[in-house]
Amino acid sequence: MPTSAAELLSAAYNDADRTIDLRRRLHREPEIGLHLPKTQATVLEAFADLPVEVTTGTSTSSVVAVLRGARPGPTYLLRGDMDALPVQEDSGLPFASQVPGVMHACGHDTHVAMLLGSARLLAERRDELAGQVVFMVQPGEEGFHGARYMLEEGLLDVVPEAPVSGAFALHISSTLASGSLSVRPGPMMAAADQWRMVVRGRGGHASEPHAAADPIPVAAEIVLALQSLVTRRVDVFDPAVVTVAHIEAGSTNNVIPDTAFLEGTIRTLSAGQRADVVAAVRRVATHIGAAHGLEVEFEHEEGYPVTVNDPGAAARVLETATELLGPNASRVAPVPLMGAEDFSYVLQRVPGAMAWLGACPPGLEPATAPGNHSNLVVFDEEPLPAGVALYAAMALRALTN
Ligand SMILES: [Zn+2]
Ligand SMILES: [Zn+2]
Repeated sequence: MPTSAAELLSAAYNDADRTIDLRRRLHREPEIGLHLPKTQATVLEAFADLPVEVTTGTSTSSVVAVLRGARPGPTYLLRGDMDALPVQEDSGLPFASQVPGVMHACGHDTHVAMLLGSARLLAERRDELAGQVVFMVQPGEEGFHGARYMLEEGLLDVVPEAPVSGAFALHISSTLASGSLSVRPGPMMAAADQWRMVVRGRGGHASEPHAAADPIPVAAEIVLALQSLVTRRVDVFDPAVVTVAHIEAGSTNNVIPDTAFLEGTIRTLSAGQRADVVAAVRRVATHIGAAHGLEVEFEHEEGYPVTVNDPGAAARVLETATELLGPNASRVAPVPLMGAEDFSYVLQRVPGAMAWLGACPPGLEPATAPGNHSNLVVFDEEPLPAGVALYAAMALRALTN
């Protein structure tokens, strides 16, 4: 008899103490970036008594575990990220971070705990599986391209005879109702690109601007022109955000400076719009500079691509979540988020989906609760077993028929 949704959920709740304990241990000792030795050791220890083949990354602290089912079949990937943020925790939780200035403020500790919980549930049900489950435990999601390193090291071919053909990731959110699930077909999160520019003029006396080449009004003109660029050049149904987040020039009241510095971000939801907007920001800035006889040095740094959910995979997440959590708990997210995710690299290569799991703590409202990345963020632990069951159910669904 295949495991039913109800059985999976109750198995996950029976194992809730272990899941929550692992989550709290990770929460106390957060690490940042691509090299997370303590976190990696904790993850390896949690995999140790499971019948999985474990490999660790060579360029990062990544961990990949493969669970082989009783029969051959395709390979399905489940992702949990494990890095923290440079945030001083002020949550007041009894298991708060013991590392000054570092906090699991994006809830990646919960992702690891849920993923490991699902590994246990699936290991107990190997007989039902036709194929392999790959558990991808990645460092460096918060801007360090950890997933890209893992792909370069052969993540998708870890089972050589059956390359990964589907993938799923959960992300916890403190600003969604606890125990609810949100997913959407198509763009789920944005591409995030950084840009910097230096407006290069010629300094001089503030009383004689004609004898200098003042970069400040040119910088101001660029800032305003970028606002018109977004409203006049960007299709509202293929949106973009251009933000000037940092601007700096000058040192005192009677000196015209040499240069002005600006930097910011570009968020887009399609590869085409991404290329167009980056090119347009460069064009507007350099040509405004040129119009005034100043040079603008423009630099662009590619961040994560758009996170695009496969429509079929998103529909399966929704159906599976509805079976597990009930008809009212899951919904199609009306709009994408303009934040970015490096699971996007995986979804560029294989069809799959990322979904949000709500964990707004009791007594707070989703609309006003401190959000992910806040120094005050708290995630409700009650839905973690539901997340465990959802990870496991997605793999079971992919590997049984
Ligand atoms: Zn984050
Ligand atoms: Zn995150």
